[in-house]
Amino acid sequence: MTEVGLFIVLFAALFLGWAMGRKNSVKKPKRDKKSVPPDYFRGLNHLLNDQHSEAIDAFVDSLEVNSDTFDIHLTLGNLFRKKGEIQKAINVHQNLLARPEITQREMRMVQLELASDFMSAGLLDRASRLLLNMATASKKSEFHSKILTLLVDLYEFEQSWDKAIQISSELIKDSPTKKEIKRLAHFHCEMAEILSKKEQWKEAFQHYKQALGVDPSCVRASVGAANVLSSQRRYRDAIKELKQVAEQDPEFISIIIPQLKDCYQRVWGGSGFIKFLQEQNQKKPSAALILALAQHYMEDDKEYAEMFLVEQLRSHPTLKGFRELINLQMRDSRGQNQQHLEVLFELIDQLAQVKPQFQCRQCGFSGYQLHWQCPSCKNWGVVKPIHGLEGE
Ligand SMILES: [Zn+2]
Repeated sequence: MTEVGLFIVLFAALFLGWAMGRKNSVKKPKRDKKSVPPDYFRGLNHLLNDQHSEAIDAFVDSLEVNSDTFDIHLTLGNLFRKKGEIQKAINVHQNLLARPEITQREMRMVQLELASDFMSAGLLDRASRLLLNMATASKKSEFHSKILTLLVDLYEFEQSWDKAIQISSELIKDSPTKKEIKRLAHFHCEMAEILSKKEQWKEAFQHYKQALGVDPSCVRASVGAANVLSSQRRYRDAIKELKQVAEQDPEFISIIIPQLKDCYQRVWGGSGFIKFLQEQNQKKPSAALILALAQHYMEDDKEYAEMFLVEQLRSHPTLKGFRELINLQMRDSRGQNQQHLEVLFELIDQLAQVKPQFQCRQCGFSGYQLHWQCPSCKNWGVVKPIHGLEGE
């Protein structure tokens, strides 16, 4: 619905709300037909002149708060917040809270909206105080999950990972949604990264394991755990962790290849590494796997490496693969042929380099580096390597 459409619906709802409020106030003497509140017409005038904020102000003034108009006041407050007019949203919601006639359920609804207002205004202390009081007072209420979700949002925004973990764990006991489970695993990973920077390896490793306990499909936790193990020269264990990624999500295989190669070279001279790459390439080919295999074949047999690359490119064409094929061809060519291949290589290289490598599967945000939390939609674990001609 467009903004104007929304305002027209609100306008109609307000009129209905006013009419119902008027109808229900049976004890009051009958009003004259002309007694529609003057603020209502003021609001209508602002609406017709596209002065939407002034229109909402006037509508709020024109309506008394009662059980019929409660929802409209709540919606108007939310509308102010969505339009970025936070102080007005706070005023509307605080005005509702001050009414003695609202029920306890309505009071909780308003408090939740007020907490969102405080968060939007950056008043995080006030928001957390309000939400913590609500969480204690309404443990078994229908709003408990919503209160905890807002608290987790707040601690995530503050990057208070320990508090976020505590409340998120409580939330998951109440309502274990896939999104919240994923989010809790990433909070553990955030804690683990901070601890890794302080070289508190044992504690960091525990958090990665807790992340995997919460969400066994958390690629970030496996990669992080492998990093901790590598830093302690436990390469065999690191290999096990890295190989887990292929089971968790094969789309991430490209991000583990360099580290996996390094670990294998330190313990078994790399032979198991090639077998692993071949198995994975059979299951789900990617540019990273094909290039790593081609580079390995190059060490013994250049002709076979080229044949392998051409064969793979037929079934799985990628810019990176073509670039590597031209690179191999350039090594043997001379004179004008070499010059032509160099131009072609530079062209494809530039094309491959300007293409984003990662994309959010939720909102489509794309970029050159892997973000575990999408910078655009703020969801966790939704940015993945791009596959297809321009990617993997
Ligand atoms: Zn996104």
